Formats: sequence, C-alpha cells, structure tokens
Amino acid sequence: MKKTLIIGAGGVGNVVAFKCAMNVQTFGNITLASRTVSKCDTIATNVKEKTGVTLSTATVDADSVSELVELINTTQADIVINVALPYQDLTIMDACTQTGVDYLDTANYEHPDTAKFEYKEQWAKDQQFKDANIMALLGSGFDPGVTNVFCAYAQKHYFDEIHTIDILDCNAGDHGYPFATNFNPEINLREVSAKGRYWENGSWIETDPMEIKQVWDYPEVGPKDSYLLYHEEMESLIKHIKGLKRIRFFMTFGESYLTHMKCLENVGMLGIKSVEHKGQKIIPMEFLATLLPDPASLGPRTKGKTNIGIFAKGVKDGVEKTVYIYQITDHESCYAEVLSQGVSYTTGVPAMIGAKLMLEGTWQAKGVYNMEQFNPDPFMDELMTQGLPWKVMELDANDTRRVDT
Ligand code: NDP
Repeated sequence: MKKTLIIGAGGVGNVVAFKCAMNVQTFGNITLASRTVSKCDTIATNVKEKTGVTLSTATVDADSVSELVELINTTQADIVINVALPYQDLTIMDACTQTGVDYLDTANYEHPDTAKFEYKEQWAKDQQFKDANIMALLGSGFDPGVTNVFCAYAQKHYFDEIHTIDILDCNAGDHGYPFATNFNPEINLREVSAKGRYWENGSWIETDPMEIKQVWDYPEVGPKDSYLLYHEEMESLIKHIKGLKRIRFFMTFGESYLTHMKCLENVGMLGIKSVEHKGQKIIPMEFLATLLPDPASLGPRTKGKTNIGIFAKGVKDGVEKTVYIYQITDHESCYAEVLSQGVSYTTGVPAMIGAKLMLEGTWQAKGVYNMEQFNPDPFMDELMTQGLPWKVMELDANDTRRVDT
C-alpha cells in the first residue's frame, strides 16, 4: 500500500486531505503534518466523520530539513504533497532528495524577505532530483496548475501554434467581510501589490500594480473588472508553448478590495521589512495577516462562483481560431463537500490529481517538471470526475470575451 505525506494544514491542506481520503485506494496511508498539529487533528476528525478514512497527524517545522527528513523516514512516504507556504519549497525539496521521495507543490518558491517569485531556484534542483531518481511536479494547483494543463490541452487538440494566451481568473464569491483574502493573506497581498508583468515578443513588460484593467465577460458570472498581474505559470509556459507571441494574466478585484488594499499600502501595512514597535520588531504584513480572517474560516460564509480559464488564439491548418477553456466552481458546493471555500478547493483538488497521476505512474519522469510538460489528457479526465468539470468554447477568430474592446 502507498504512503502519502501532506505538509500544511491550512485551507488548501484541508481540501487535499479530504480529496486524498476520497481516493484512499491510490493514496493508502495518509499523514497530515504541519507546524500546528491541532489544525491537522481538526481536519483529521472532519475527514473521518465525512469519509470514514483515518489520517495520521504529526507536527513538523518545514523550514528544517532535518525535521522533514525524520518525518519522511518515519512515515515511509512515497510522495510529499507540499501545501505549506512557498517559503518552505526548497527545504521540502531538499528533504525529498535526501530521502528519495517524489515531491509536489502548488506555488513557486518565494524568499520571505523579497516579494519576488520565480522558478529559478526550483529548476536549479533538476539534476539533484535526477541524481536521486525521483520527480518534482511544480505548481499543481489551479493557477498555476490547471491553467498550465489547459494550455497544454489547447496546444495538443486545437492548435498547430498558439500565438496569444490570456489567463483569466475570476472569483465572484462574496464572504461578507469588508476585507479578507481567499488564501494565505501574506502570499496573496504580496502577489497583488507587486508590479504587473506580461510577456510579448520575447520580452517581459513591466506595469505599475493594477495599471492595466480590462472588462472580461465570464460565463455564468458576467462582466468583471480584471487587472493585469504577474503570475508564475507564465514563466514556464513561455518555454513550453510553441509559437507563443504574448501571454498575460488577469484577475478580478472589486472596488472595495482595491480601496482597502491601497489604504493598507499607503499606511505601510503591506511592508515586509521589520519595524520597531514599543521595543519589539514586527513585520507589518505579518501583523496584518494576524488581524485578517483565516482563509480556512471563510468556507461557511462564502457564496457565488469562481471562473478560471485560458483564452487562446492561434492557427490550426492555416486558419486562425480562438479557444476558451474554463472551469466554474460554486463556493457553497465546495463547503458542502469538504468544508472549504472554492479557492482552497480549486487549489487542493488539482494537487491531489497531480499526486494521483504520479503515484499511479501516469505522470512519471525523473527531475523537476512543470505541469504543461506532461500529457494533459489524463489530468483533464480526472478534473471531470474529481469535482472540477471544465468546458471548451470554440470561437471564431474575431470573437472576444472582452466587453471593453
Ligand atoms: P494557509 O496559510 O491557510 O496554510 C498554510 C499552512 O502551512 C498552515 O497550516 C501553516 O501552519 C503551515 N505552515 C506554514 N509554515 C510552516 C512551517 N514552517 N512548517 C510547517 N508548516 C507550516 O495557506 P493556504 O492553505 O491558503 O495555501 C497553501 C499553499 O497553497 C500556499 O503555498 C499558497 O501559495 C498555495 N496556493 C496555490 C494556489 C494555486 O492555484 N496554485 C491558489 C491558492 C493557494 P500554521 O497553521 O501553524 O500557520
């Protein structure tokens, strides 16, 4: 029987734990470990109640390679699913190569002191993984993750060459709080307050944060203000999608979210350098994260839908065409199934699917890989049956989902 180690017991860890338990025939003995073991125990109790599957729990500091190595050896894991924070990616990868165990994550490495995320340091471990005869699958969430697989699927089935891709991430959910983030507040706010960036004709073009706004019309949601952000999947997609000339990423934000964020930024609350406060050093962003609602607590309050997809234009047999592949998730249905809101759900389900394909040997290779490097078909099939059904719209070349053109 296989053995699975999940690290991280936040919103995403909860969904991964549930979904692995629902696929226990693949995942076998499942251990959920995190810094705060009581969070693992609560999830394990809920999973047992709803699925009948017993999870083991453990405490680990994932910043410590030696603690991780000890835990991996104790659990005899066949795979480590990292759904802690991006800061832990490198230590967990090192522990995997030391113990010879496959690795998967959902977000690329970030240094705590620099709000910059890129694959450089994780890709640099490719030889280390090859030498250890194991595999790392990077970014197996929704975006990155499913969006990469959508691009690979479009390339395989709809185009000879894709020329432009717009990744469109719409969360039309409402949790009723004036301001809260749907996943880890620190990671989320670092991402959206950073400069925007997109890639065109071989170069990265930088924009001010939220400088470019477009209104896209999302099926089952409607038109929404969408802002250009830098997002990590673009860095690997420009390497792997044939003939690409431009790739951009847009995310929806409401007026209230942006006003709160601007205000917090203006008063210094998004700072990531420590400041002196009454004789103590505090990092403003960390303090803000303490004040904000825990994303895992948004589940019972969140209503509405997410709609995330890719809008690709290119040529097939000499004819220009446009394809839109997207997935819609309902927050309340997620809560009914696994006690989670939709953003954690849409991240946790693909993490489970990536790990399932690795454990079953369907996606297997030695070294460090991004999602679009594998055959997208088995992943797309799993999405259909594991809770994230998707749709394809074939549009004529001039069609656009944008309403402000
Ligand atoms: P949360 O903050 O809710 O949970 C993070 C978990 O990691 C917590 O249980 C936390 O423990 C644990 N943790 C943090 N540091 C350590 C450490 N040093 N050792 C052990 N455990 C640690 O985050 P989310 O669940 O919202 O997000 C999880 C991951 O998913 C993040 O990397 C995020 O970037 C990624 N993500 C990816 C998306 C995608 O589509 N690709 C979308 C959304 C999120 P404690 O409880 O003690 O703080």
